[in-house]
Amino acid sequence: MTVTRALHFVLLILVTIVTSTTYASSLTLDLDRGKTNLVPYLEFNISTAGPQEAPPIEGWSQLQSNQVKFGFDDRTYWFRTQIQNNSQYPLSFYLEIGNPLLDNVSVYVLRNGKVKSVQHLGDQQIFHHRPVLHEHFVLPISFLADDELEIYIATQTSGTVNFPVFLWQKETFQSHQDYKRLLDGIFLGVILASIFAYAFTALYARSKTSALDAVLLSSLLLTVLTLNGLGFHYLWPGLPVVQQHASLLLAAIAIASSAFLAKEKIDEAKSNLLASRSFFITGIAALCLVPLCLWMSYQAGVYLVTAVAILICCCHVYSGVWMVKHGINEEQDLNVSVGILLFALVFIAINNFTATPLPLSNLALLEIAMLLMVSILSVSAIRKQLQTSEQLQQQLEQERASDEFHLSGFEAFESDKNTSTFEEDEDLRQKLAEQNLELQVTLRELEDRNTELEKLNTLDALSGIHNRRHFDKRIQAELRRARRELTPLSLILFDIDHFKKVNDTYGHVAGDEVIRAVALTSEEQLNRSTDEVFRYGGEEFAILLPNTEPEGAAKLAEKVRKAIEALNITTSSGTVNCTVSLGVSSSKQAEITEPNMLIDLADKALYKAKQTGRNKTVSQLTEEL
Ligand code: GH3
Ligand code: MG
Ligand code: MG
Repeated sequence: MTVTRALHFVLLILVTIVTSTTYASSLTLDLDRGKTNLVPYLEFNISTAGPQEAPPIEGWSQLQSNQVKFGFDDRTYWFRTQIQNNSQYPLSFYLEIGNPLLDNVSVYVLRNGKVKSVQHLGDQQIFHHRPVLHEHFVLPISFLADDELEIYIATQTSGTVNFPVFLWQKETFQSHQDYKRLLDGIFLGVILASIFAYAFTALYARSKTSALDAVLLSSLLLTVLTLNGLGFHYLWPGLPVVQQHASLLLAAIAIASSAFLAKEKIDEAKSNLLASRSFFITGIAALCLVPLCLWMSYQAGVYLVTAVAILICCCHVYSGVWMVKHGINEEQDLNVSVGILLFALVFIAINNFTATPLPLSNLALLEIAMLLMVSILSVSAIRKQLQTSEQLQQQLEQERASDEFHLSGFEAFESDKNTSTFEEDEDLRQKLAEQNLELQVTLRELEDRNTELEKLNTLDALSGIHNRRHFDKRIQAELRRARRELTPLSLILFDIDHFKKVNDTYGHVAGDEVIRAVALTSEEQLNRSTDEVFRYGGEEFAILLPNTEPEGAAKLAEKVRKAIEALNITTSSGTVNCTVSLGVSSSKQAEITEPNMLIDLADKALYKAKQTGRNKTVSQLTEEL
């Protein structure tokens, strides 16, 4: 505070004291009272001027309740009281204003109408500037023997004007703090343990839901730490700006992660598009609030976050009812726990908006809700773990039983004959044997069907001969074998001449029939079981000839050419005659290591055959036949 301001204030205070010094009720200090609620002794007044300006002179009235509770109001609220120490001893006390989120708090202590001390506090100032390093606003107040002090408190905040005011004996305050720290520690410990457990599961099991669980709990924990001021005390004491925005920002992140978590869980359990989409949209809405919270007014932020919280509550209610209807009760844990938590948030919002005092403080409620949530989630995680290991156990036992059955066979059965339950055993074993047989038959059928399917996959639908896919596999395998066994591998590529004309003249259906006839005819010309013809694509074919010299391959090519030339193909549009051009290559001709090298050589030969008149065979070795 500047010197002029201080002087100005002192003058005005003097005027105030002179004009009105009659207090509705004043407090006489009692040595036995460790903690005194000051609110019943306070008078209040509202001013539009700042908290560091002079207090209003007129219009003071008595507070009606045990706690200051005015809801959202960014005007300056003034409170004043008079405290007497009638004892013969000097006394020292702490004055506590119990809301860590107040933006500005100014406390003026006057003796005999003169300002004795002035303190400016508030969460807009660096934490370490406080006279007592505590998350609430705490000031030491010292009385002389037989003394009387007047205390003026001015608060101004963009949040809610809700707080208790206590006067503490220092020792009582200290022991109360110790107890409070213990409770805070337990709360923090439980939540942190869960966060670590989820984070490790997320890392090791690459589980998305565990990662979301960890984010949800972390953001909730940080929200609580912002609201109770512990974050400002221990985590970001030098950053009042973080303290200003963190609570809404973190609450929005918590809502978003809980929405995405719910979406994941519902997708895993059973698909419900409406619920899944609602959660997703709510999650995105909450994420959009994160940057908005940074520049919006605190009050608008609270309204928006509350609105999204209500939205997600509705989604959870809907998904909960839907799950009950569909009997998916294992996944209800999140609905129930997030439901509890979000209803707590809604309760807090109501608590903030209304002036009526509610039995539980916001923080206590939020902490209880979080603990309940963590307990429900942990119990459900343990239950799931148990279920999985039970299933595994059962599976193992089944496998073991079936193994034993196979091993023991009927010899073991024979040796068991003399027992009293012989007939029952025999029945059981026979049943098991029948079931086993049935199972094996089914398995064999399945295998056959698989083989059939695989076969179908390698066949060309139009011509019925093997397709390009199969050719690619075969040529690779045959080339390897040829290199290994030092045998020649030959390839014939051939293409129907002027096939476009066939299509144009007789139509595509007839064209197809020609392709089929050419395929069958060329197949008929093969002599060895290892020779094979493939439809290479369109009206192009390939013949793979393992262990065949290039000369033999060229001869076979000629045989194929002649057979096709001699064909009179009867089609639905009349009789068609066609010729083919062929290119032959062989692995003996060059150092061939890749299938593509062999194909390229044959392709070049085929091109040459086409170029030099068609209806002929060209071999890379013999050049032309
Ligand atoms: P070339 O002697 O130079 O090979 O002449 P071409 O007319 O055969 O020329 P090209 O290879 O370019 O044309 C092949 C034609 O074969 C083009 C395409 O429409 C036709 N075709 C490809 N696959 C099929 C099929 O499965 N059925 C029918 N009916 N026609 C096909
Ligand atoms: Mg052609
Ligand atoms: Mg072609």
